[in-house]
Amino acid sequence: MKILILGVNGFIGHHLTNRILAQTDWIVYGMDLADDRLGEAVNNPRFHFLEGDMAINKEWIEYHIKKCDVVLPLVAIATPKLYVEDPIGVYNLDFEMNLAVVKQCVKYHKRVVFPSTSEVYGACTDPEFKEDESFLVVGPIQKERWIYSCCKQLLDRVIYAYGTRGHLEFTLFRPFNWIGPRLDSLDVAKEGSSRVVTQFIAELLMKRPISLVDGGHQKRCFTYVDDGISALMKILENKNDICKSEIINIGNPDNECSVKELADILKNLFMAHPAHRNDKAYSEIIEASAMSYYGKGYQDIYSRKPSIEKARKLLDWKPEIGLKDALRMTLDSFLEENKGAV
Ligand code: UDP
Repeated sequence: MKILILGVNGFIGHHLTNRILAQTDWIVYGMDLADDRLGEAVNNPRFHFLEGDMAINKEWIEYHIKKCDVVLPLVAIATPKLYVEDPIGVYNLDFEMNLAVVKQCVKYHKRVVFPSTSEVYGACTDPEFKEDESFLVVGPIQKERWIYSCCKQLLDRVIYAYGTRGHLEFTLFRPFNWIGPRLDSLDVAKEGSSRVVTQFIAELLMKRPISLVDGGHQKRCFTYVDDGISALMKILENKNDICKSEIINIGNPDNECSVKELADILKNLFMAHPAHRNDKAYSEIIEASAMSYYGKGYQDIYSRKPSIEKARKLLDWKPEIGLKDALRMTLDSFLEENKGAV
C-alpha cells in the first residue's frame, strides 16, 4: 500500500510513519516544512520525503494523490492559543488547504483518512461523546476559539456528504488529547502556545509558574500516542472495509483528570526525576483567568470524554497506557530532548 502523509513531521505524522515503517511493507510519501522529528525514518528506502510548504508544492501533492492508495492530510494548526491569535490562519490552513486535498481525493478516487478532532464536540454536555449521536456545541462568533472546531466540523460534513453519495471513500478519526514524545517543542512552549501537557513540563523546566486557567477544574482524557497510533493503524488496514464511511473517536476515557490534577502529577514527576530531584526551587502552581491567559476570544471546554465503544467494536482496539505512565514517558522524553537547553 502507498500512503501519502501531508504534515508527516507533525506529532501524529512522525509517530505514524515510524510505526508504518517498523511494522508493515507499506510505502510512505510525506511532505512537511521540516524533518527534525522523523529520526531514522528519513534513511528508510520505503520513505520518500519532500521538505516544503503545502501552499507552494501543489503539483507535488496532486501527483502523489494520484500515485497513492490512501491520503492522510494531517496539516493543521491545533493549539487553542493560536485559534484566538490567528483565526484566519487557522481557517486558511485547516479548512481551505485541506478542502483542496479532499477534492483531489474525490477527483482521483482515493481513500482519505481524515483527522477530525475531539474539539468538534465543543461544549457538548454529554458525559461521553458519541460519534453518531452527540450534539456539536460551539459558542458565539466573538469567541474565536471555536473557529477550529467549525472548520473541522464543516470538513467532516463535506467529506461525509461526498462519501455517502458514493464520490469518496473515507474514514474520520477524532483524537482526544493525544500526548507523548515530541508533542510540542520547547520554543513553542516558551511563547506560551503549546498544548497543556508540554506547556506545564516546559514551565517546570524553565522554573516559570504553572498557570491553571480559571482554577484548572476543566477535565481532559489524555491518550498515549502509541495507543492512538495502534488504532490509526487498524483504520489504515481497514480489514473488510470495516471503517468505510465511519467516524471514530480515539481516546482513553479512563485517563480523565482535571488540569489541576495534571499540574500536580507533572510537578511531582518532575521533582522525582533524577536530573531534577536536587533542584533548588520548583515552579509554583498559580491561577490565571482565561481572559488574562488567552484573551477575550477564548472559551473553555469543561469536560471532554470519548465514548470508545465504536473503536472497540470496529477495530477490536482498546488503549493500554494509564495516565501516570503516559505522563511520565512524555515528561522523560521532553527532558531528555531539552537537556541543557534552559
Ligand atoms: N490550560 C491551562 N494552563 C495552560 C495551558 C492550558 O490551564 O498553561 C488549560 C486550558 O484552558 C484547557 C486545558 O488546559 O482547559 C487544555 O488545553 P490545551 O491547550 O491542551 O487544549 P484543549 O484540550 O483545550 O484542546
